[in-house]
Amino acid sequence: MFKHLRNKILFSYFLVLLLCFMVVLITTSLFIRRTYFSYALHDLSDDAGLFIDEFTREAILAKDSVLLKKILAKAEDNYTIDILDVSAVVLGSSQKASGSLPQEAIGRRDEFQIIPSRGYGYSLREAQNGVKTIYVVLPVEKDGAGIGFVRISTPLVYIEKTISRLNVYVIIIFVLAMAVSSLLSFILARNLSSPLLKMAEAAREISSGNLQGRVEIKKRQDEIGLLVQAFNEMIERLKIVREERKNILSNISHELLTPITNIRGFAETLYEGRLKDKKEIEECIEVIKRESDYLEGLIEELRLLSRLDSLSMRYDFQPLQVSEVVLEAEKSLSLKALAKRISIHNDFMPDCPLVKADYKALRQVFINLLDNALKYSYPDQEVRVSLERADRFLKISVADKGIGIAEQDQEKIFERFYRIEDPRHSEKGLGLGLAIVKEILSSHRALIEVKSSPSQGAEFIISFPLA
Ligand code: ADP
Repeated sequence: MFKHLRNKILFSYFLVLLLCFMVVLITTSLFIRRTYFSYALHDLSDDAGLFIDEFTREAILAKDSVLLKKILAKAEDNYTIDILDVSAVVLGSSQKASGSLPQEAIGRRDEFQIIPSRGYGYSLREAQNGVKTIYVVLPVEKDGAGIGFVRISTPLVYIEKTISRLNVYVIIIFVLAMAVSSLLSFILARNLSSPLLKMAEAAREISSGNLQGRVEIKKRQDEIGLLVQAFNEMIERLKIVREERKNILSNISHELLTPITNIRGFAETLYEGRLKDKKEIEECIEVIKRESDYLEGLIEELRLLSRLDSLSMRYDFQPLQVSEVVLEAEKSLSLKALAKRISIHNDFMPDCPLVKADYKALRQVFINLLDNALKYSYPDQEVRVSLERADRFLKISVADKGIGIAEQDQEKIFERFYRIEDPRHSEKGLGLGLAIVKEILSSHRALIEVKSSPSQGAEFIISFPLA
């Protein structure tokens, strides 16, 4: 029915408000009616009380019509006073005195039932002339014995008029309150819908390729605030992904180009048969093999990353002895270590507890860390791997004494494709090794941190939760 959320909210608020106000209005007007009626009875009984004095008693006992007339002369126009004897026979009436309306018939009516707690009796009935009238009767006593009654009566229409006037005030207040509430509802509904509209606008911008926009709203802690915050974070993330994609392509093409150029160059040299010396030929083949291995390594890294991203990576968590996995990784890097004359020292705690991990994934973690340690160490240095238990974690440290990492790069090196722009860090690579390490570890609920300062080496510490 409504296109905009704001109107939907507004309409439902309005309905609820209307319902509430109607209930309040009806109960208030009923309450006013009851209260005012009881006040009116009270006032009438007070007015009637003014006619009970020694003169009245004397007039009743003596049935003195002249005196009664005198007494009744002080009655006002808006009510009628009747003075009756003990058997409810009308002795005198202010109505008769004014001569306007016929006198009420003689006889005991409901109003003569005196309510002891109130001190008067009352009834609401049609008078002789058919007008709805309210009657209040007060007993007149002398020396404790009832000698007659004073009855006051007034047409109900006087009271109804006042009640209607009060009801009009209530309706005015009701309409004003409804208007103010509707205004507040409008502000509230707009408050709810405007950030959503802004988000829809920003989403449209994003889908047309513009990632510059942000949803700007006043700071708020509620669900809408959280949604807007998450939305802005999503835009930020999309920007990073776009930036990453750009970097990936330029990094990959750059990293692939050098080995492929080398392979092609050396293959052509071999093909043309320009090399006659066996040693030269062997060196040439060696370069082709090394570059092919490097290319294979790069492609392997990219494949691993895409498997991690597509969540198609299946982990087989088994209880493992970490030291065995470390030794396995060291074995596959032994030639590299030998080439740089770097010795790897192991400092494993005895009876090292088992961890639950995927063997291949964990081996990949150590290969990447050890490979970096070898790459960024100087020849003849040493690399140390240590394992120790700390509370509910197994702390695994891979430390080298190489070129180290500056403070500002320490967090970024775990980002994909991040490579430090420094001639000393000129080793080949796509900048994926540590990102892969971090992702594999987070799937194992393990954390990794780095401690390092330039030229002082780097220590990567893994905190692996123990089962
Ligand atoms: P790559 O596979 O290209 O080496 P990584 O993600 O493994 O990428 O590392 C990112 C960057 O972190 C590297 O380019 C390097 O500059 C720095 N780095 C990683 N390990 C070390 C280390 N042990 N010592 C010094 N720098 C390191």
